Amino acid sequence: MLEKKVETFNMNRVIEDFEEMSRNADQVQIQTLKDILLKNHSAIYLKNFGINGTTTDPEAFKALVPLVTDFELEPYIQRMVDGDTSPILTGRPVPAISLSSGTSQGRPKFVPFTDELMENTIQLFRTAFAFRNREFPIDDNGRALQFIFSSKQYTSTGGVPVGTATTNVYRNPNFKSGMRSIQSLCCSPDEVIFSPDVHQALYCHLLSGILFRHQVQYVFASFAHGLVHAFRTFEQVWEEIVADIKEGVLTSRITVPSVRSAMSKLLRPNPELADTFRTKCLSLSNWYGLIPALFPNAKYVYGIMTGSMEPYVKKLRHYAGELPLVSHDYGSSEGWIAANVTPRLSPEEATFAVVPNLGYFEFLPVSETEKEPVGLTDVKIGEEYEVVITNYAGLYRYKLGDVVRIIGFYNKTPQLKFICRRNLILSINIDKNTERDLQLSVESAAKRLSEEKIEVIDFSSHVDVTTEPGHYVIFWEVSGETEEDVLQDCCNCLDKGFIDAGYMSSRKCKTIGALELRVVERGTFRKVQEHFLGLGSSAGQFKMPRCVKPSNGKVLKILCENAVSRFFSTAFD
Ligand code: AMP
Repeated sequence: MLEKKVETFNMNRVIEDFEEMSRNADQVQIQTLKDILLKNHSAIYLKNFGINGTTTDPEAFKALVPLVTDFELEPYIQRMVDGDTSPILTGRPVPAISLSSGTSQGRPKFVPFTDELMENTIQLFRTAFAFRNREFPIDDNGRALQFIFSSKQYTSTGGVPVGTATTNVYRNPNFKSGMRSIQSLCCSPDEVIFSPDVHQALYCHLLSGILFRHQVQYVFASFAHGLVHAFRTFEQVWEEIVADIKEGVLTSRITVPSVRSAMSKLLRPNPELADTFRTKCLSLSNWYGLIPALFPNAKYVYGIMTGSMEPYVKKLRHYAGELPLVSHDYGSSEGWIAANVTPRLSPEEATFAVVPNLGYFEFLPVSETEKEPVGLTDVKIGEEYEVVITNYAGLYRYKLGDVVRIIGFYNKTPQLKFICRRNLILSINIDKNTERDLQLSVESAAKRLSEEKIEVIDFSSHVDVTTEPGHYVIFWEVSGETEEDVLQDCCNCLDKGFIDAGYMSSRKCKTIGALELRVVERGTFRKVQEHFLGLGSSAGQFKMPRCVKPSNGKVLKILCENAVSRFFSTAFD
């Protein structure tokens, strides 16, 4: 694939384009569906449902094509992975397949990646950057400290490149020019992004950031988890970084030859920088304000901080000090959906405006009474919906599994808030708890812990039905030692934190057993992450599974084997 010339960036024009598109969101949707159907009219999948080159009308499309999930599409996508080049889901064979994180199901799933998805990615980055830059302008020739990792791309037995969506994006020849056009060039050399070892890559990202510390304009990772993980690692390795800079010699822990050679080219003995950097680190109290201390010209910290990333915001704020936290946009391996056009809003308030030419969007009401999805401009403020996406990459009326709430409209396009993954994660009988419910319960119980100046580093859960009656198990990794009675209080608080009527009544009549809190050893969640990286998830796209299903025996084993103490709730005794 040849590198395309990316247009030079004109902030006002990009904003005006979005204004215009959002004013005509309904028309843009009709046109987008038409384009998608015309482009892919030869796809076997569409033909099977009676769509031919003349069906472009939304009503006809919806009448013929059913709503699906990844489950129904799997056999089609598998044929593509196996190298069948007939037009299966798309008019043309796809250049690559993405592995979506799929951590909630315990296995990665495949989705098609196409040139149009790449173009959408660049369009979305430019739109979001334009709105961000209007609020927080960055200096010319600046750089971004980006914790990005391209995991390995492999070739399927059918000859198709397979990698995570971010990997497919970073490896695309248009990525670098796209980033350059929005003044977001990475501090690290490409070899670091493409390093086969993510631990070495992270160290080198941190080191490169320090070497370019005055140029760094913002700090980014796709997910807040990645940012927190990076700076927690910094706390452990900073002295090694000081030594590298002082001597101009890279630590022996970097062994990947391409990374070593690229990083060595950046290093010269610089005792002065080593000294300033060391003094800065020593002057901080408990690492508060670490990011602005290291990067004096940084304007903001950027990454997904909403939804399942909320639990990391507190720690991120600690590292960011006074710097604004700007929420990264809303999308998935399946395609981008919405951009943050109001970047001044805090992570708790962040909303995303749907970009109406990225796909044809429908919204399936979550309320149990309504079953029909509504169109983009027909959603109602305050209501919650599951997102249904039809895009250029062979997904037609695909239920994404995410629940969003409509907060308002930006011109005619909805502004939404990400709520949670749709799947119920904790349910034994009539109880229904989502990832969000778990998060809220953990948040309230963690307050008891914070009185002891201890934090919850990470958490997950499991439904244990091997006991009679079944009960919820919550796994916690915490940042320090504390009295047993504090943890017992936390356990009771977790139990009380699930306020779903089905759960509370089942607990009262003991058809659900006492909630169990298992505290795991420090570093356990890191082991869980490593397990997923080994399966092909990328470090940048990683999301901690908030519920471990029995089918995910390996993760359950890691969590159970590393449990150091157990508490059973007495809240309903
Ligand atoms: P992946 O499957 O790795 O491509 O991850 C995509 C998923 O990440 C989406 O379906 C959402 O559940 C979640 N996600 C993406 N963007 C956001 C966001 N801005 N806020 C919260 N969750 C998000």
